[in-house]
Amino acid sequence: MKLVVVGCGIGGAEVVANVRKRLPKKELEICVLDQRANTQCKALHPLILSGRATPEEASGDLKRFAEAHDAEFINERVEDVDFDERLVKTEKGREVSYDHLVLAFGAEPDFSVPGAEGAHSIYTLEDAVRAKNALDALDFSKERDVVVVGAGLTGVEVAGELSDFFTRTGKKVKVTLVEKESRILPELPEEVSSFVANILKERGVEMLTSTKVTEISDAGVMLEDGRMLSSDFTLWAGGVKPHSLIKTIARVKRDPYLGEIGFPVTEDGWLRVEPFSRLMGMTSFDEVGEGEYKEYMVFAVGDAVKFEVVEPDFLERVSMKTMDEAERHAKTVAKNIATVLKGWTKPLRHIYIPKNATVTPNVLIPMGEREGVEVRCGSAKRVSPREIRRKVKVRKVSAERVRKEVEGGFKALFKE
Ligand SMILES: Cc1cc2nc3c(=O)[nH]c(=O)nc-3n(C[C@H](O)[C@H](O)[C@H](O)COP(=O)(O)OP(=O)(O)OC[C@H]3O[C@@H](n4cnc5c(N)ncnc54)[C@H](O)[C@@H]3O)c2cc1C
Repeated sequence: MKLVVVGCGIGGAEVVANVRKRLPKKELEICVLDQRANTQCKALHPLILSGRATPEEASGDLKRFAEAHDAEFINERVEDVDFDERLVKTEKGREVSYDHLVLAFGAEPDFSVPGAEGAHSIYTLEDAVRAKNALDALDFSKERDVVVVGAGLTGVEVAGELSDFFTRTGKKVKVTLVEKESRILPELPEEVSSFVANILKERGVEMLTSTKVTEISDAGVMLEDGRMLSSDFTLWAGGVKPHSLIKTIARVKRDPYLGEIGFPVTEDGWLRVEPFSRLMGMTSFDEVGEGEYKEYMVFAVGDAVKFEVVEPDFLERVSMKTMDEAERHAKTVAKNIATVLKGWTKPLRHIYIPKNATVTPNVLIPMGEREGVEVRCGSAKRVSPREIRRKVKVRKVSAERVRKEVEGGFKALFKE
């Protein structure tokens, strides 16, 4: 029996580690593919800009990880999946067959404005190192302008980290954070936005909300109202979009019993899974006896998936794209895979319920060497807007605590 995992970020790695814990190599072969040789702890990327984290601390060796978990590692980009033939195809023409498959290829940066791709970014570790080098190369003998575009979690973390760094090191830099929505952290409850905005304001960060960027160039950042923000260093933090592989693999599957089955994606292009985290319809069956079938399953975890639960009269719960959520998701899927492999006839039992949803965030926001912000909102059970106001708790916590927690899962997988 062979499990293939596409993508070995935090989600894919947690699947490998947790399945292997339950099933030794003689019962299950595991093969994991990733285009990168080293995986990244993206939560540490803002800290690379200020030198608080090193590239070594933020990366994990995938070959070593695979060896430690008795798994095969193929360092190639996956270009296609044939769900009829149960084959994963790579850029080098390799075809890897699977019995069960987990898609854990994450998301992609959304460079939605002309020139955004040419700005700095911290999406990959290499981007973050390049951005740090560019910052270090600036001449700080005169005042400089730094513009961060996008005030989601990444943009806010960068503004928090840099404002703290420039103050500590006595550099005269004006940091501007630009956001097209009416408040920073627009995905999170308002209490969180205003709490974090106050911290940034105290540090002198200028926040331009309801402000759309139309173009980024060497001359600066062009705004919709015609203003041009002068910038010596522009960082794009405009969010993520569905992985381009989804469009390639989203083909009709031909099932011998059910006919043609459409590929499950959400309206906005993310993978859509059912409560056990399987990609609906991508399962295949072998008849092994009178009315008895073996089921070969396809699961998806982490950022690649949009997991939404909508209940009448209650707020929509969309799982947040965070490391701990990917971890939690992967652990549930690992339990389901172990259930299937221990007995074909056993029903799946483990349902993934996002704890960390946009309406009930539980996040830690690094904001420099001195402090960070903790947001707690309980778990994403049924909640009404009124309840959320009561439940959301935001407070300052120590920078050490934030760092320990944000990199905890990554360290356990790749550094121990
Ligand atoms: C700048 C930044 C800062 C962040 N900060 C935090 C934070 O402070 N706290 C937090 O909880 N979360 C944070 N996140 C979010 C967090 O990193 C993600 O939610 C988490 O990494 C998702 O895990 P994943 O395994 O689904 O995807 P990823 O970690 O993105 O892993 C996907 C893997 O798939 C591989 N892959 C992709 N395409 C292919 C392909 N075609 N073939 C083979 N391999 C492929 C990639 O190389 C990668 O290794 C941050 C994200 C960013 C971008």
